[in-house]
Amino acid sequence: MAKEQLIDKTNRVINYLRLSITDRCNLRCTYCMPEEGINFLPHSEILTYEEMLHLVRLSVEAGIRKVRLTGGEPLVRKGFIPFLESLCRIEALKEITLTTNGVLLKELAADIKACGISRINISLDSLKAERFFQITGRDYFDRVWEGIQEAERLEFDPIKINVVVMKGINDEEILDFARLTLEKPYHIRFIEFMPVGANNGWSPKKFISMEEIREQIGTLGVLRPVKSNPLDGPAQRYVLERAKGEIGFIGALSNHFCEKCNRLRITAEGHLRGCLFSDQEIDIKSPLREGKGDAHLFDLISDAMKNKPREPGAGRHGPRKCIRQMSSIGG
Ligand code: SAM
Ligand code: SF4
Repeated sequence: MAKEQLIDKTNRVINYLRLSITDRCNLRCTYCMPEEGINFLPHSEILTYEEMLHLVRLSVEAGIRKVRLTGGEPLVRKGFIPFLESLCRIEALKEITLTTNGVLLKELAADIKACGISRINISLDSLKAERFFQITGRDYFDRVWEGIQEAERLEFDPIKINVVVMKGINDEEILDFARLTLEKPYHIRFIEFMPVGANNGWSPKKFISMEEIREQIGTLGVLRPVKSNPLDGPAQRYVLERAKGEIGFIGALSNHFCEKCNRLRITAEGHLRGCLFSDQEIDIKSPLREGKGDAHLFDLISDAMKNKPREPGAGRHGPRKCIRQMSSIGG
């Protein structure tokens, strides 16, 4: 089996795995999940933790060095901490991190830290409790904010805060979020609103580009670029003068980053997915459960890597829709 970094047909090094550990969630963000929920997978169709660990080990053989746990909401799945402990024992992984909505973070942050995790992404689209409720359908702003404070107290570093910006909904808070980096060591990452999943409310009227957001923030002062490292995602990173934190921009639609994309995804039901915006998937759970050997599973992983879509998934040709819900892919 290959022990080297796997390079796809366009010379992209695929070293970053996003693993969706559940499709369940305790929020109902309007852009991600309808109030009634989605057709959640039966539990038997979701990969077990054992299966996930098996697939991560094989992915490491194929060159994966960074894993991000996502969902749905990863912290709602029972047994999350023991799973994280096992994952952290996979030596070749240089970085393990997670994306959470923060609702359960206050309770779990210390255990997560004790596993050896210190990098965390927390999603928060508003600094106002009422708007948070409108966006997420749940009155949990205080819980999320306390979770962020707890992560800061425990010295998670970096603490990245993901903000999906929607025109007419939360765009008036762009400067408040940017100003937060002056007082707090947070990395605020503005994410363009994407048309993912059926009826997620996306429309050109609600779309605001990274360029527009950067221009607004420019009114606060000069944005100095920060150099990124090879395992970094697609965010363009900046700091404001005298800031304790950073500002990042993820232009998923306006500034597609396909040529630099280093990601592979495994969905909660055990499908390998090369691109968020392409519904092309490989079922790896069935062969795994049928007892096909590791060599076969490894080939499926390396096929998914080599055949990652090359075309801009979004942007140049107008936004392409992804039919699957974001919550089952993991963002
Ligand atoms: N539940 C966790 C959370 O919200 O952080 C992890 C899963 S969530 C699907 C991962 C990320 O995708 C979140 O930062 C969320 O804001 C983002 N996201 C979901 N739907 C999106 C959309 N339509 N456009 C842009 N970002 C989206
Ligand atoms: Fe849940 Fe995250 Fe989707 Fe919001 S974005 S509904 S928190 S999975």
